[in-house]
Amino acid sequence: MFMKNKSIWLDEKNKLLKKVTKDLECDVLIVGGGITGLSTLYQLHKNKVNAILIEKNKCGEGITSKSTAKITYLQEKEYLNIRKFGNLSIANKYLKSQMNAVNILKNIITKENIVCDLLPSASILFTNDLNKKDILFDEYKFLKNAGVNVELLKEQKEFKLALKVQNTYVFHPLKYLLGLKNILQDYIYENSPMKNFTKEKDFYICNVNKHVIKSKYLIIATHYPYFIYPLFLPFKSHVETSYIGAIKVKEIQNVNAINIDKPTISYRYHRNQNNNYLIYLFNSYPSYNIKNIQYNFDDLLSKYNFNYIWSNKDIITSDYIPLIGKVNQKDDTLLIACGYNTWGMTNGTLAGVILKDLILKNENEYIELFNPHRDLNLNKITRFPVDACGSLKAILKSNQDNVNNSKIIYTKIHNKDVAIYKDENNKEHIVLNKCPHMKCGLVFNAVEKTWDCLCHGSRYDLDGKCLEGPSNYDITYKGTDINEEK
Ligand SMILES: Cc1cc2nc3c(=O)[nH]c(=O)nc-3n(C[C@H](O)[C@H](O)[C@H](O)COP(=O)(O)OP(=O)(O)OC[C@H]3O[C@@H](n4cnc5c(N)ncnc54)[C@H](O)[C@@H]3O)c2cc1C
Repeated sequence: MFMKNKSIWLDEKNKLLKKVTKDLECDVLIVGGGITGLSTLYQLHKNKVNAILIEKNKCGEGITSKSTAKITYLQEKEYLNIRKFGNLSIANKYLKSQMNAVNILKNIITKENIVCDLLPSASILFTNDLNKKDILFDEYKFLKNAGVNVELLKEQKEFKLALKVQNTYVFHPLKYLLGLKNILQDYIYENSPMKNFTKEKDFYICNVNKHVIKSKYLIIATHYPYFIYPLFLPFKSHVETSYIGAIKVKEIQNVNAINIDKPTISYRYHRNQNNNYLIYLFNSYPSYNIKNIQYNFDDLLSKYNFNYIWSNKDIITSDYIPLIGKVNQKDDTLLIACGYNTWGMTNGTLAGVILKDLILKNENEYIELFNPHRDLNLNKITRFPVDACGSLKAILKSNQDNVNNSKIIYTKIHNKDVAIYKDENNKEHIVLNKCPHMKCGLVFNAVEKTWDCLCHGSRYDLDGKCLEGPSNYDITYKGTDINEEK
C-alpha cells in the first residue's frame, strides 16, 4: 500500500494569494497565518479594525495542519498540571476559557457556513494502568465540582478506567482555515515572510519582501515568536514532538480519546466525502529527549498500516497555561500568542478574541489568566532549569541521531560545518549544519525528508529552506563565500 509521508490535512488544495510588493501601512499587522493569526484577523475585521496579515508560505499549512484537530476542553492532564503549578481557581478559570472557546469556534463555523468536516465527538480521557486511577478520580472530582457533565467509565473494552464528556468536536483544520482565508483574503499577503522589525516613534517598521509595512500594533502569531527575545521562551517552555498516522477505516465512531499513560496515545475519527479515517497519535517526547526519529516512526508504524504518517510539535509552557498578550507589561502595542500545550484549536481561537479586546481596550475576563507576565511562584520557577537544561542537552547531543545513517555526512567545506544528504538518485543536498536560532546541530528526518533541530523544533527542507521556526532563516549552503542569510 502506498503511504504518504505528510499530514492528511495537507492534501487539501490551497490557492496562493498575493504577496507584499509595495510599502503598506495599517493599524494592526498580524504575522503568521495559522489558527492564531487567522482567528485574530477575523475578530479584528468583525470589529472594523484596519488589520492585515502576512504569512511566509501559504496560510494554514503550519503546525495547525499537522494536529489531530480535536476541539475539546478535556485536555490530557492539563487541569491536574495547572492545579500543581498554579491553584484550583486558576484551573477552574482555564476550564471555563476552554469551554467558551469550543463554543466560539463552533459558532464561527456555523455563522460563516464553513465546510470543514465538523463532527460532534465525545471526548474521553483514559488509563489502562490502574496505578494511575487516582489521577482520573481526581480529574473526575475536579470536573464534577466545576459543574461539567462528566461520566466515569469502568472496565470498558478499550480502557480500564475513563472519563467522558460531551459537547466537543473534531474537524478538518485546514478546511476551517481556508474558510477564514476566503472570507478575509483582501487583507492577507502570502509568500511574505517578516524578516525583522524596529520601532520608530509610534509605529513598527516591519521588513517584508524588501518593502516595509508600517503599523501601530504588531501581533506575532508565528507559533514560536523568536523575533522578540530569542531567550524569552527557551527558559519558560520546552518543545514536544509527537508522531501521527491516518488510516482508512470502514466506520467512524463519534468519540475521540487521549490517555494519561506513557506512551501517549491519542485518536479521533475523520470523515470526508469519500472515506473514513482513524487519526492516531503514538508517543510524545520533549524534543530534547528524542533518541532516534526513525525509531519513533517505526514504533508508530508497528501499530497500523497507515496511509499517512507525519510528526508535529508544540510549545509546552512551564505552568501549562498559554502565553497570550503583551510582550512588555507597559506596552500594549506588541502582542504574542503561543504556548498552547498541544491545545491550539481552542486556545488559538480564544487568542483571537483576547488580542482583539486588548487592542480595543475592552474588558476580557481571561486577559490576566494568559498574561505572559503573570506572577511566578516557586513551583513554576523550579521548572525553568529543567527546560533550560533540556535545551542544553539537545545542543550537546545534536547529530548523534544520524551516526548510523550512511546517507548522511557531517563535514566541513571551506571551514563551514555542513551536513550532506545523498538522495535515492545519489544527488547531494548540502546544508549548513547549524540552526540559526541557538546554533544547535541538525538531525536528518528520513521519513519526512527534513533537517530537524532537536533544541527548539526548527525544521528545514532538504536544501535548507526554513519550514518551521523558531528559526527565521534558511540554512542553504550557497558556496564558498556567502551563506547565512542574516
Ligand atoms: C501532535 C500534536 C497534536 C495536536 N493536536 C491538537 C488537537 O487535537 N487539538 C488542539 O486544540 N490542538 C492540537 N495541537 C496544538 C495545535 O496544533 C497548535 O497549538 C496550533 O496549531 C498552533 O497554531 P499557530 O497558529 O500558533 O501556529 P501555526 O499553525 O504554525 O501558524 C503559524 C504561521 O506563522 C507562519 N510564520 C512563521 N514565521 C513567519 C514569518 N517570519 N513571517 C510570516 N509568517 C510566518 C508559519 O508559516 C505558519 O503558517 C496539537 C499539536 C501537536 C504537536
